[in-house]
Amino acid sequence: VRDSLSEEHRHTAVPWRVGELVSLYCFNLAGLVLILLAWFQVSGQVDLGSQMRWLNAGVAGVIVAGAGNVLWLMAGRRRVGELCRSAARPVLARAARNRTVANAPTPDGAVGQLVSGQGMTRFHRRSCLFVAGKPVTPASERGHIAAGRRPCDACLASGAGQ
Ligand SMILES: [Zn+2]
Repeated sequence: VRDSLSEEHRHTAVPWRVGELVSLYCFNLAGLVLILLAWFQVSGQVDLGSQMRWLNAGVAGVIVAGAGNVLWLMAGRRRVGELCRSAARPVLARAARNRTVANAPTPDGAVGQLVSGQGMTRFHRRSCLFVAGKPVTPASERGHIAAGRRPCDACLASGAGQ
């Protein structure tokens, strides 16, 4: 049950938990109460000294609300980072697997084959990470260039591919 819940959470649009939302609400409410109280008290005072004291309370209210918002943003940022890492892991693992498969000698000896796919503006070595796991078709370098594609900056950087 816990697994399916976290799986569900992974696909929600909001990277915050309910507890964090409650804490955000409490911090902002406390800050707002302090600010309103300070405003009310300062406007009812004639003595400068007590006005300053209540002004300080108002500043404290701003700080409390700000701290709550910072905590909330940091929690969201941390969660997004976690989600990015967990989402990238299977993709990287698959890419690494394809890479080793691609580097292994194939029956037609096509280790350094130049490939590209539908809608791509560049052609790559078959072992390039940019085409890992994508549907690609091989062609000669001349064929790729004739199709208006340029060599990949990553895998064909030094004019390799010949
Ligand atoms: Zn490439």
